[in-house]
Amino acid sequence: MFTENDTDIFTECAERMPEFNDKIGRITGHHEVYKIADERIASFGFRDVQHLIINQPEGQVNTGKMMSALLGKARATGVEIFNGIGIRSLEDSSNGVLMETDNEWTIRARRVLVAVNGFARKLFPDLDLYPARNQVLITKPVPGLKVEGCFHYDKGYYYFRNIDGRILLGGGRNLDFETEKTLEFGSNPLIRSALAKLLHEVICPGQAAEIDHWWTGILGLGPVKKPIIQRVSPNVVVSVRLSGMGVAIGTLVGQEGAELVNI
Ligand SMILES: Cc1cc2nc3c(=O)[nH]c(=O)nc-3n(C[C@H](O)[C@H](O)[C@H](O)COP(=O)(O)OP(=O)(O)OC[C@H]3O[C@@H](n4cnc5c(N)ncnc54)[C@H](O)[C@@H]3O)c2cc1C
Repeated sequence: MFTENDTDIFTECAERMPEFNDKIGRITGHHEVYKIADERIASFGFRDVQHLIINQPEGQVNTGKMMSALLGKARATGVEIFNGIGIRSLEDSSNGVLMETDNEWTIRARRVLVAVNGFARKLFPDLDLYPARNQVLITKPVPGLKVEGCFHYDKGYYYFRNIDGRILLGGGRNLDFETEKTLEFGSNPLIRSALAKLLHEVICPGQAAEIDHWWTGILGLGPVKKPIIQRVSPNVVVSVRLSGMGVAIGTLVGQEGAELVNI
C-alpha cells in the first residue's frame, strides 16, 4: 500500500516489478506474481492511498490454527511438551547437555535444538542477531469492514490484515529503532499513537474502529535477512533469527535444525 507520501518508493517498486516477476515466476510458476491493483483501492475504503501492488499468490495463515496443528502433530508422535520453563544456560559435555532452568533445577538431554529466535543472544552472546520489538493492536469487530487481505506498508515496516471482522495492525519499529531493540515486552507510546493514527485516518477512516487490545512481539533480526541454522557445540544446534518471516519459514527452519541435530 502506497500513500501520497510514498511516490518515490512506489515508482521504484513499479519499475522493478518485471524483474521480480521474472525471478519469482521461475520459482512459483506464476507468471505475474506482482501486479498494480489501483482499481481495488476504493473497494477497501482507504483514505489517501494512491497505489496498491498485489502479490497474487499470497494468502493469510491463521496462526492459532497453525500452532494447534503443530502441537497436535507433535503429541501424536509422542513428543512431550513442557511450557513455562525458561532455560538460563546450557553446558555441553561428553555426558550431554546440562540446562539450568529459571526454577533452579536442571534438565539433562543428549542433544538440544534451540529455537528461541530473538531471545537467543541471552544464551549465546556471540550469535549475530538482535531482538526487535513490534507493537501490535487488534480492533473490536468493525461494522461493515471493507478491508480484506494482508497489507504491507512503508517498506514493510507496517503490516495489517482483516481477521474475524477486525483489523490486526502492527509495526512502526522504524519510528524508534533503538528503543525497540529490546527483549522486554512493553508499550512504546510514540509508535502506538502512530499505529492508531494510521488505523483511524488511512485504513478505516470514518469508521467505528475501536482498539480492543495491544501487545508486543519480539522478532530476531540480523545483518542479513536469513536464518541461522548452525551447530554451536557438539550436541547443541540453533535454529534462530527468523528475520520477521517465521510464520512463513519457521517449519522449514525447525526441520533443517532437527536434521542437523541428528547428524
Ligand atoms: C507484528 C508482527 C508481524 C509479523 N508478521 C509476520 C508475517 O506476516 N509473516 C511471517 O512469516 N512472520 C511474521 N512475523 C514474525 C513471526 O511471528 C516470527 O518470525 C515467529 O513467531 C518466530 O517463531 P519462533 O518460534 O522461532 O520464535 P518465537 O515465536 O519468538 O518463540 C520463541 C519462544 O521461545 C521462548 N523462549 C525464549 N527464551 C527462552 C529461554 N531462555 N528458555 C525457554 N524458552 C525461551 C519464548 O518465550 C517464546 O515462546 C511477525 C511478527 C510480528 C511481531
